[in-house]
Amino acid sequence: ELYNRILELKGNIRVFCRCRPLNQEEVSKGDSVVVDFEFAKDGELVVRAPGSQRKVFKFDSVFSPQADQEMIFENTSPFATSVLDGYNVCIFAYGQTGTGKTFTMEGTKDARGVNYRILEELFRIVKERQGLLEYEISVSVLEVYNEQIRDLLLSGSQPGVAAKRLEIKQVAGVHHVPGLVEARVSNMNEVWEVLQTGTNARAVGATNCNEHSSRSHCIHCVMVKGQNLISGECTRSKLWLIDLAGSERVAKTDVQGDRLKEAQSINKSLSALGDVISALATKSPHIPFRNSKLTHLLQDSLGGDSKTLMFVQISPKENDAAETLCSLNFASRVR
Ligand code: ADP
Ligand code: MG
Repeated sequence: ELYNRILELKGNIRVFCRCRPLNQEEVSKGDSVVVDFEFAKDGELVVRAPGSQRKVFKFDSVFSPQADQEMIFENTSPFATSVLDGYNVCIFAYGQTGTGKTFTMEGTKDARGVNYRILEELFRIVKERQGLLEYEISVSVLEVYNEQIRDLLLSGSQPGVAAKRLEIKQVAGVHHVPGLVEARVSNMNEVWEVLQTGTNARAVGATNCNEHSSRSHCIHCVMVKGQNLISGECTRSKLWLIDLAGSERVAKTDVQGDRLKEAQSINKSLSALGDVISALATKSPHIPFRNSKLTHLLQDSLGGDSKTLMFVQISPKENDAAETLCSLNFASRVR
């Protein structure tokens, strides 16, 4: 409750910046680093921009390469309470391909990410509230690729081959996708199974799984129905967990055909997302939700009393400095 008050004071949009470590190969090559944490104040990040100009960015939290999955989740877990209290929550990972978006959201078997941990936290709180409140939790897993929605829990679906064309419909003021599979989950074994099914389906039919996943948005939607057993009051809320497509800019001269179309739709949806979040942050009277499938899908869960967390993922490497600055500028705009 104290946490919710803090969120209100600071607004409902928070931005965390996470920098990945150099990998073994980069270390042995002796790659130089342009992101500096040592002398930065809390929540600050210093980047040595090309031309050795120093730029300071400020976020709600900044996580250095030493921060582990536990530390990231410690700062994310309060959103689980928000969801069970009836608030809609969106958690995004934004950044250039290879900066750790999937590591933060999905994680690995030994270093599980936000997706798994936040569901675990939901179940922990549900148990704690047993007898006072009753909850029903279900999960959908979908992908937005080239402005098309694909259901990753529907067996036999393949990228580009929309087995069933999924569209966003608005019924009684609520946006939803009719026909999307919603898997009821009542324990973490079931959650793990659903998450795995989604991950595996993502790879099916893709000629290069990594490339495909960096060009599509991977979305988990956790739907929560709550009922207060004493007052009878019901809540419905959604938690969106979104591993966004890579934000790197592709030079138009480098790509043609399908690749160009992909690049354009990624560009379109990421800038639409930035536009929506910054319009919300500045309390603009017009919020351009309809400019992309992603923002349209999230319309009910962005703005109002919904809460948004964006992880801006960056690389520490000098070679990536231009993209890093782009990502940090994007993130500064939405904050
Ligand atoms: P993205 O999804 O943004 O393309 P990945 O999550 O696939 O990036 O990360 C690229 C590689 O770097 C992966 O091998 C991942 O395990 C590793 N990695 C990313 N972030 C971290 C981190 N904070 N600590 C350790 N390894 C990381
Ligand atoms: Mg990824």
